[in-house]
Amino acid sequence: MFIEPRVGNGREAPHRGWIEVVAGSMFSGKTEELIRRLNRAKIARQRVEIFKPSLDTRYHEHDVVSHNATSIRSTPVQLPEEMLLLASGCDVVGIDEAQFFDASLVDVCNQLANQGTRVIVAGLDMDYTGKPFGPMPALMAVAEFVTKVNAVCVCCGEVAAYSFRIAASEAQVLLGETDSYEARCRPCFQAGMQEKTPVVPRPTARQER
Ligand SMILES: [Zn+2]
Repeated sequence: MFIEPRVGNGREAPHRGWIEVVAGSMFSGKTEELIRRLNRAKIARQRVEIFKPSLDTRYHEHDVVSHNATSIRSTPVQLPEEMLLLASGCDVVGIDEAQFFDASLVDVCNQLANQGTRVIVAGLDMDYTGKPFGPMPALMAVAEFVTKVNAVCVCCGEVAAYSFRIAASEAQVLLGETDSYEARCRPCFQAGMQEKTPVVPRPTARQER
């Protein structure tokens, strides 16, 4: 479990700003981990602000809501730059569903951390095809602390790092995740992706002639 190098008394400390990333697949508990860290900061009387991309409106418009229904108040923003203004005077900034923001999120997180803010970013590290998702790989590179959380494969019960899409859509952003995705381990994800690949029909003898 991640233990903060420092929770409270941030303003007296010499190097108080840093970036933490909580990355993982769907159903890996990344939002629960974000909420756990933010709640600890609140206990330490830190001023906490939470943001999420405004496109994520699955549950309540103003709440970061995780799947086990522990929720925490959040502010939906369209662009990462909005956070610079909205987060002024905060000790800790939490960002959920970070994969949906554009690359400017990296600069914004760096700016906040440079100004002395503790930044905790949670998001999907890979999309449903297994490719690094949005600004997440860059954020993992610039962060002081990276925690990769895993789910459990629904096929075999092994540790799962992939979000396998059951629905047929090709869009990278597909909300309503409980119905459309399942957590899978590497072999079960690969098997599923191979099943999805349309089989190219071999030319018949007649067509070859
Ligand atoms: Zn598996």
